[in-house]
Amino acid sequence: MFRQGRQLSIAASLFRYPAVAPSSLRHYSFEVFRDVSPLRKLRRDLLLSRRTVGLVPTMGALHEGHLSLIRQAAAENTDVFVSIFVNPTQFGVNEDLSSYPRTWDADVAKLEQVNAELTRENGGRITAILAPTSKTMYPTLPPSSEIDGDGSFVTITPLSRKLEGASRPVFFRGVATVCMKLFNIVGADRVYFGQKDVQQTVVIKRMVTDFHMDTEVKIGPTMREDDGLAMSSRNVYLGTRRRAIGLTLFKALKAAESAYHSGKLNRTDILDPSTSITKDVLAKQQALSPSERALFEVDYISLANPDTLEELEAVDPAKGAILSGALKMAPLEETNAGEDCGLGDGKVPVRLIDNLILKPL
Ligand code: AMP
Repeated sequence: MFRQGRQLSIAASLFRYPAVAPSSLRHYSFEVFRDVSPLRKLRRDLLLSRRTVGLVPTMGALHEGHLSLIRQAAAENTDVFVSIFVNPTQFGVNEDLSSYPRTWDADVAKLEQVNAELTRENGGRITAILAPTSKTMYPTLPPSSEIDGDGSFVTITPLSRKLEGASRPVFFRGVATVCMKLFNIVGADRVYFGQKDVQQTVVIKRMVTDFHMDTEVKIGPTMREDDGLAMSSRNVYLGTRRRAIGLTLFKALKAAESAYHSGKLNRTDILDPSTSITKDVLAKQQALSPSERALFEVDYISLANPDTLEELEAVDPAKGAILSGALKMAPLEETNAGEDCGLGDGKVPVRLIDNLILKPL
C-alpha cells in the first residue's frame, strides 16, 4: 500500500509512468514508492531489524526473466525491492523510448502473484516497488540522451564502447547512471541482473568494483521460451513471422557453442558455424516475397574475454569466453490479412540480443 500521505502528493501530471491510473492506487502486498525519502525510511527500519534487501532493477513489462530474478532475490534476502523505471538516458535520440512497452497493471498483478507464491518461512518476499518519475531520478537537469548532453553521468569505459555500445553510444552511460542512482537510493545488500544482458552485467560489476560500492552483484540465468528464444520485453513486437526468424540468433550461438565443446578454440573455428547459419537463413528469406519474409541484419557475433570484453582470436580454455550476438529484425515489408504481426503491426524494428557463456574447460 502507499505510505501515509503519499497519495495526496502524487500529482498525475508528474507521472511519466502512464498506466498508473487512480484505480491502481489500491492496497498491495508491497509498498509502492514514487519518492526517495519514504523508501529510505523503510530501508533504515529494515536495517535496524537486521533484514537484508535484494534489489531487482527493471524497466517493467515484466516477464519470467524478471520474475526469476525476483525469486532468486527472495531466496537470498528477507526483502526484495523491485524498481520499475523506463530510463530515458539509456535510449539514444533515435531509439524506441516512446514505444517501449509500459504495462503497470499487468506488472503489479505478476508481482502480486509472485508474492502469493512466496512464504516468509522459505525466504523473503517483495516488500517495495520503486516506480519513480523522471523528475525524481533526474532531479536537477532533464535527462539527456545526447552524446555530449549535460548531466551527472557515470561512464564505464572502454567496456561501454564495445558490442552493444558500438551501435548504442549512450546506452551503458544511461544504464550505469540509473543503476548508480538506484543503488544509492536503495542501499541493497545484493543487486540482481540477468545473464541475458551480459554486457550490462560486466559493466555493473566493474562499476561496483571501481566505485567501491557496498553491494554484491548477483547474476541470474537467461530465461527462454520453449524453443530457446530469450525472453525479452521487446518480443511482443515481433509477431509470428519475425519471431521464427529471430530464433536464428540463438541457433547461431548454439552452433558456435557446440564447436567450442567439440574442442575448437580458434575464433574462426568457433564462429564460422554461426556465420553460416545466419547467412543461410538470410539468403532463404531474401529469396521469398516481401509478404512472406522477415529480413534482418546481424549487428555482431562476438567471442570475447569474460572480464574485458576484448575480442578473442583464441579462447583460453582455463578462462572460457562470452559468446554474444545482436540481430536487428527489420520491419515487415508487407503484411497479410489476419497475420499476427505483433504489437505495432510489424512496423517496429526489433533488436534482439542473446549470449552463451563458454565455461572454462
Ligand atoms: P529490463 O527490464 O529489460 O531492463 O531487464 C531487467 C532485468 O531483467 C535485467 O537485469 C535483465 O538482464 C533481466 N532480464 C531480462 N530478460 C531476461 C531473461 N530472459 N532472463 C533473465 N533475466 C532477464
